[in-house]
Amino acid sequence: MAVQYTYISDREAKELICEIGKRVYNKSFVAANDGNISIKVGDHELWTTPTGVSKGFMNPEMMVKMDLSGNVLEGNLKPSSEVKMHLRVYQENPEAKAVVHAHPPVTTSFAIAGISLEKPVSPEAIVLLGKVPVAQYATPGTQEVPDSIAPYCRDYNAVLLANHGALTWGRDITEAYFRMESLEHYALMLMYSDHIMHKSNELSTGQIAELISIREKMGIKTGGIPVPGIDKKIRTAPGLQEEMIESIVQKVTEEVLKNVLK
Ligand SMILES: [Zn+2]
Repeated sequence: MAVQYTYISDREAKELICEIGKRVYNKSFVAANDGNISIKVGDHELWTTPTGVSKGFMNPEMMVKMDLSGNVLEGNLKPSSEVKMHLRVYQENPEAKAVVHAHPPVTTSFAIAGISLEKPVSPEAIVLLGKVPVAQYATPGTQEVPDSIAPYCRDYNAVLLANHGALTWGRDITEAYFRMESLEHYALMLMYSDHIMHKSNELSTGQIAELISIREKMGIKTGGIPVPGIDKKIRTAPGLQEEMIESIVQKVTEEVLKNVLK
């Protein structure tokens, strides 16, 4: 029988969002008014950050209560247009109870380069984070953004948003926020080792299997298996490029055909 989840109160959720907002801002995971945070307080309700406000300077009265369909239930300010991503995570993955969106500089650089974070080099990253795919680019604020992340919400714990930033989620706000911290830390280590030192020793398949079993004992079933070639769901950088080339070829073919058939 499924265990009933006990949600935190409205007050706790609003205070926690402010606290996490300060951390996200003080760690330079966002600049100015960037980023957004949300916490579910019921099966169909959540509190989220308002638009146009710095995450470092929020108070509980600024928060907005919404339902999973995007209707505002409480609050004087407007929610961010990026809340659509949060709603989509909750719709796709009922286990997710909190979502954090930020633009951490190193992680976002990987997102700009279209490089997914999946190299098995850090035990902590394998256990706490798993593989982090890159979702296709989508214009911020549009419906394309939630559509671009939808394929990853159930099987992973985080996703890179191409040329934009990152999104993490968890069974509570601490897990969602720690995943953002772990993500930036992992991206930084990978940048130093892989892209500056040009040397990163990958963990063996046996070592990875051991870490996966630790992860499962912690009740984490998501994150994919970070052995290159095993988990085909991951959209790797070369795969992303292949996909882009494919779509370009298709567009060119369509144009040529249009001209020929004129
Ligand atoms: Zn953003």
